[in-house]
Amino acid sequence: MQPSFDDEREAKVYDLVVRRFLATFSDPATRETMTIVLDCSRENFIARGTRTVKRGWHEFYAPYIDLEEQELPKVEKGGQVAVKKIGMHTKETQPPKRYTPASIIKELERRSLGTKATRSDIVDTLFKRGYVDGRSIQATELGIRTVETLERHAPKIIDEELTRHFEEEMEDIREGKRQPDDVLGEAREALTDIIRDFKKNEKEIGKELSKANIETRNELTGVGKCPSCKEGDLQIRRGKFGGFVACNRYPECKTTFSLPRNAFIKPAKKECEQCGYPKVLAIKKKGAQEFCLNQDCPSKYAEGKAGETAKKIAKGIIEKSCPKCGKGKVVVRSSIYGKFYGCDRYPECAYTAQLDERSGGDGKNGEGKGEGHGKGYS
Ligand SMILES: [Zn+2]
Ligand SMILES: [Zn+2]
Ligand SMILES: [Zn+2]
Repeated sequence: MQPSFDDEREAKVYDLVVRRFLATFSDPATRETMTIVLDCSRENFIARGTRTVKRGWHEFYAPYIDLEEQELPKVEKGGQVAVKKIGMHTKETQPPKRYTPASIIKELERRSLGTKATRSDIVDTLFKRGYVDGRSIQATELGIRTVETLERHAPKIIDEELTRHFEEEMEDIREGKRQPDDVLGEAREALTDIIRDFKKNEKEIGKELSKANIETRNELTGVGKCPSCKEGDLQIRRGKFGGFVACNRYPECKTTFSLPRNAFIKPAKKECEQCGYPKVLAIKKKGAQEFCLNQDCPSKYAEGKAGETAKKIAKGIIEKSCPKCGKGKVVVRSSIYGKFYGCDRYPECAYTAQLDERSGGDGKNGEGKGEGHGKGYS
């Protein structure tokens, strides 16, 4: 019997744990791979197919394994097959996939760098220091320049071989194959050399890195020209109450824009086609979407009749009572995602709806314009 969960995610994790647990006690699974080599006028064509013969532990773990079942047609060894059709395919080679946080940890393991306990910390640190960015990981300018700088001035620091060597020696200590003192002595010598090299070039390294650091920060936070003072640059800031965009000529220019909290915001490096304000990219689990910073941008009203009605409600030409509480009045609110309807009794009444009249219920409406309404109430 499955216990009940309020949170769907918790239920999923529970399901995974239980299935994994049961799977460890069940029989091995058997998979069979068949390769057929077809000789067509001495040109070999190869077909390969793998299928599950005995499901074993897959029985329990099924939803969490996704194995391809490719069964090849029955053929006899040395038999003849008829050529039915001959065609030419045009295909392009694909670049290797970018690493994800999970796959880069596997790669570290493959290269015996780090330990089970440290690998995910290593990757976290890369993100925290801004060396890498994104779910499908890209090295930032800072990351690339840091490696380049160290390669030039202190190549041993980024030498994989050295790290791996120490990792292996630690393992040897653990297994009792080597004495801690020997290993430590060797490490001390190697590190002293590295630090000496580093110290010698310290100033040069510092200069190069600080330049790279500033450039990367601008790349990650610079949104575009300030539309009010036309001189300053708008930058993404992260404050106590979440992210916002501010002009870097503060305090002379006090222009700020609020940002939604439920998404990671990056500059879109683009201007709004409708009002010319800079745009930002809101990245969520389900993908990224571009938004104009200007809450009063014409693009934020719904199109056609729904938009007309919304404008009239905003100006007070049409009055509508709140369908949820019946006491309040419907008003037009703004968020970076767009305009939406709310109740003027907010926060007592959490009614929200999209401008095109699809009701958003009580403000919990999952995606899109319904989200992020907490911000932008003015
Ligand atoms: Zn400004
Ligand atoms: Zn706009
Ligand atoms: Zn209401």
